[in-house]
Amino acid sequence: AAASDRQLRDAASAWTGPAALADGHPVDLLANVKDGDGAQEAAGGPAGGIGLFRTEMAFLSRPDEPTVEEQAELYARVLGAFPEAKVVTRTLDAGSDKPLAFAGMPDEENPALGVRGIRIDLLDRGVLDRQLDAIAEAGRRVGRAQSSPWVMAPMIATVAEARDFADRCRQRGLTPGIMVEVPSVAVSVDRFLPHVDFMSIGTNDLTQYVMAADRMSTDLAALNDPWQPAVLRLIHRVAEGAAAAASAAPNGSRRVPIGVCGEAAADPHLAMVLLGLGVSSLSVAPAALPFVGAALAGVTLEKCRELAALALDCDEPGQARSAVIEAADA
Ligand code: PEP
Ligand code: MG
Repeated sequence: AAASDRQLRDAASAWTGPAALADGHPVDLLANVKDGDGAQEAAGGPAGGIGLFRTEMAFLSRPDEPTVEEQAELYARVLGAFPEAKVVTRTLDAGSDKPLAFAGMPDEENPALGVRGIRIDLLDRGVLDRQLDAIAEAGRRVGRAQSSPWVMAPMIATVAEARDFADRCRQRGLTPGIMVEVPSVAVSVDRFLPHVDFMSIGTNDLTQYVMAADRMSTDLAALNDPWQPAVLRLIHRVAEGAAAAASAAPNGSRRVPIGVCGEAAADPHLAMVLLGLGVSSLSVAPAALPFVGAALAGVTLEKCRELAALALDCDEPGQARSAVIEAADA
């Protein structure tokens, strides 16, 4: 029988972590944050770390670029909230739905297909270089466990961009990763994997670009649904690609962990499907975290794989969702 909203709320408020499936399989369940206060707050709850720190959100109204020192202070607060755990800082995702005043973004006909995310390099490479300097400095201030902070770039589309970003991170002792939100990365994931240490799937943008449906459009909400089987198939492809690369490497020395940090991970049933597809970490808004944690505690990895197979076998998102909910609660 489907659990009532009341039961879900009770289960969520009783759940204290750490996140694991019913068979004991650990889950990396992390928080999405946008500033130091959010990070400190998340540290008081059951989050296992931070899977997405949206740095641009702290600077949206700034008319001028924050100095390296200002940035380092902010980043150190966020890294310091989880001194012993994973914290993934995303470099500025300027443009489109998050215009940054100081970045000098051009006026564009199609900003979602324009200069955004890592493409800010096309205007001025200095902005990213200074941000990476600030993150490295923040890591040094926070200490040993954060001495090689995880940093990821948004809107990566080509291998050359991934390689260049990773080089600039490694020169500073940072651990480089990329977001998978442009379909080109998912399609050719085997070509990207050798260059980075982790990947994080941004389902908000990946869905928008796979379905060619503006994420801001309410008219297109049905298309813009991460339950769309085409989106799930791409996520599966990324996870399978990483697993294949790991098994080809000598004694599993190159395992690139694959996470999801888009809103999709905050839907408890979709979270089960994502784990079943082979994703190893989920990063969600702190308010959603106990709901996801409590739901995952009730299913095994085998069950998640079964649910993922059911979803992949559908043609419509609504059909996939109903099939999964029914089988999960059975
Ligand atoms: C995403 O695209 O899924 C994502 C996590 O990034 P943002 O929502 O900040 O674009
Ligand atoms: Mg995005």
